[in-house]
Amino acid sequence: MRQTSAGPRAVRGTWLRRLLGGLGVRVRFESFGGIVALERPPLLAFVDQAFLRRLGFREHPRWGEARSTLSAPTEVHMTLTRACPVGCRGCYVDAAEPAPGELSTAAACAVLDDLAAAGVLHVAMGGGESYVRPDLFDIASHARQLGMVPNVTTSGLGMTQDLARRSRVFGQVNVSVDGLAGWDDSAGRPRGSWEVAERALELLRRARVRTGVNCVVTRQNVERLDELARAVRRLGVREVEFLRIKPTGRGTTDYGRRVLTREQARGVYPRILALARSARIRPRIDCSFLPMACHHAPDLGRMKLLGMLGCEAGHHLASVDSVGRVHACSFLEDGRTLPRGLAAEWDAADALVDYRHYRDRAPEPCASCAYLSICGGGCRAVSRFLTGDPFRPDPECPRVEDWSAARAQGSRAVAGSGPLLGDPPDQCAEAGDPVVPPHHGRQPGEPRASDSGDTEPGEIVV
Ligand code: SF4
Ligand code: SF4
Repeated sequence: MRQTSAGPRAVRGTWLRRLLGGLGVRVRFESFGGIVALERPPLLAFVDQAFLRRLGFREHPRWGEARSTLSAPTEVHMTLTRACPVGCRGCYVDAAEPAPGELSTAAACAVLDDLAAAGVLHVAMGGGESYVRPDLFDIASHARQLGMVPNVTTSGLGMTQDLARRSRVFGQVNVSVDGLAGWDDSAGRPRGSWEVAERALELLRRARVRTGVNCVVTRQNVERLDELARAVRRLGVREVEFLRIKPTGRGTTDYGRRVLTREQARGVYPRILALARSARIRPRIDCSFLPMACHHAPDLGRMKLLGMLGCEAGHHLASVDSVGRVHACSFLEDGRTLPRGLAAEWDAADALVDYRHYRDRAPEPCASCAYLSICGGGCRAVSRFLTGDPFRPDPECPRVEDWSAARAQGSRAVAGSGPLLGDPPDQCAEAGDPVVPPHHGRQPGEPRASDSGDTEPGEIVV
């Protein structure tokens, strides 16, 4: 008997759907289709409705919605405490003592309940120093029970065999490393920080916890990043996320002394690509480094395919601080308490909406930039610090610098010259394949972007 094509496909789809559930794959429905999330290997794929139907999913009410933004962030950064005994001079949250009124265990878990109800997939926990909270593992376990993946960042201070073993609850533990022994003041960390981080990484490795390293790139350490990458690779770390320094918290104090020079900023992307190959690490660059990557005119289609995204404040990303206020990003401090919670207020909260729509309202030279859709205009925190207005184009973006300089000279040549002003070339002339950013996905409506953590050395993830 001749079967209709719909029959076998539907059976196969149901089977596939069950298999995905058994493998821990999560699907969040969106107006364009949905987001498929996998913890190991880390994957965030934006897929269309047709793709989900082929997997056996039926119509979802969101598929009829006319919206161009996500129904909730994919990732939320949660500052668990401002307490930290390390005292880095460049700390972006100005951590030292706990803030008055920090979330109790129950309140932190209630925040997680709200995030889970909204559909958040990842919660990146940090501080201050998260490990000073005695209830850290209770909070992380609660996130797990709700189906979210908790990650955490630490200086490594106080790590013990027992803490390392209990850290298996996290999807990944990232240890901050901005310099090695004897380096002079790489990012304002006190002497001995490398030894602390090295020991923590070793304990975590022995406990079979997935680890990564966060490295704030400064004027002081940028020329030595290859040494740093080789050192952490020797400790078994494969993933290093390179972060742009942000002028917030104590980071404002000597920002001008630590921020990359103009030449260093323009060269940082190919530098990271090169060291990724030589040290055989998997590099990530943070969202705020996108303008420095775009300066090298990497292939736009490939960047989209890898899910590379720049500023996603208030859209793919939001943050909750240690007293429960919600911000568009942990480097933007103008958030507020949402009395009805994130799930209920996501669409309208003015602390989020303006950031979410930067791309629609971007001024020049972002407006005519071929990379606006992925870059998002650079870092809003840097713009606010340097111009007083978070919605100005990032003044440290090379294209913005050149545009501003040309305007200052009264040049007519700006709009229409330079590699970023028209369509980008197919290949990156200097830099080769792109690095990928951390946990962001891709614009709704554009299916099949992925953020796999299993790129090869020499390929960057944002
Ligand atoms: S001009 Fe704007 S959108 Fe383009 S790379 Fe620079 S900051 Fe990003
Ligand atoms: S403001 Fe935007 S680019 Fe800057 S750190 Fe936050 S999300 Fe990233």
